[in-house]
Amino acid sequence: MRKLPKPIVVVSKCITFAPVRWDRSIIASDFVEKLKPHVNFVPVCPEMEIGLGVPRSPIRIVLVSGETKLMQPSTGLDFTEKMNTFADSFVNSLKEEVDGFILKSVSPSSGFKDAKIYPKLEKSASIGKGAGFFGKAVLQKFSYLAIEDERRLLNPRIKEHFLTKLFALASFREAKKSGTIGDLVRFQSENKYLLTAYSQKELGILGKIAANQEQKPCNELFRTYETHLYNAFGSAPSVGSNINVMHKIMGYFSNQLSKEEKDFFIKSLEKYKEGELPLSANISILKAWIIRFKQQYLMDQTFLEPYPEELVDLDSYSSEFMAKEYWK
Ligand code: SF4
Repeated sequence: MRKLPKPIVVVSKCITFAPVRWDRSIIASDFVEKLKPHVNFVPVCPEMEIGLGVPRSPIRIVLVSGETKLMQPSTGLDFTEKMNTFADSFVNSLKEEVDGFILKSVSPSSGFKDAKIYPKLEKSASIGKGAGFFGKAVLQKFSYLAIEDERRLLNPRIKEHFLTKLFALASFREAKKSGTIGDLVRFQSENKYLLTAYSQKELGILGKIAANQEQKPCNELFRTYETHLYNAFGSAPSVGSNINVMHKIMGYFSNQLSKEEKDFFIKSLEKYKEGELPLSANISILKAWIIRFKQQYLMDQTFLEPYPEELVDLDSYSSEFMAKEYWK
């Protein structure tokens, strides 16, 4: 099997790294702990970076004359400008050396979609939700990368998509760094079935770019390829597309399988369709057959091991977090 890259991930510092929340607390996350050996984390706490110490009075997003501001109710201070300046300079300092973000949910600074917005500084009920100020800067600059918060990552399918995209983009970043057509062609070849699951349309376009019949210069080729790669990973593949790819892979050796083996696999696919089994459970069956029938080409397919096996979490699959609301 191929060597997996080590993605670069910016993470909210209060998630397992340091007790930097307003009340000196730290957020536990089994997922982030498990990820630590497999990625290069860049922890950041925007509120600490703009000089708010620990402990501190909480801040919140307040609507003032139709504009959102980042304010501290206890002092009436407005931190909007400081936070925007820090957030812009931080995201710009990353250049292209980043593959994903794990941000703290709900935070008025770090949240990327569910920070509460209040109508006034004084005690009041929230009137809506949106991105926090740092989260917004991340989205503006890196919307095409793997971005999630620790709460949404409790959903196994969101986690699957996040990890798949994260490791694929890290592997592309490495290929881009080496900058040879050979590396681009290898990337395209190894990701053929993964891209089939994500977007057949983009797979076709990416294949043509990598074939480079017009003999374009390498840097131009990588740039065009990258845009379409981001399009392909724009949203998670449907269950149906993943099943379709697994059928295609089974086609390589279906003549050599017994009826019982095939029936067992079809039943496993049904369970995956019903949300009772993760994709990885079916992939394990395919991998066993690939090894048995010595299909070297398939062994290198990222679809079969999009991220390290240690990160596969079978137990969480049927948990309450499969609830539809987590998919919004
Ligand atoms: S949510 Fe963001 S700003 Fe708040 S403590 Fe965590 S890292 Fe710092």
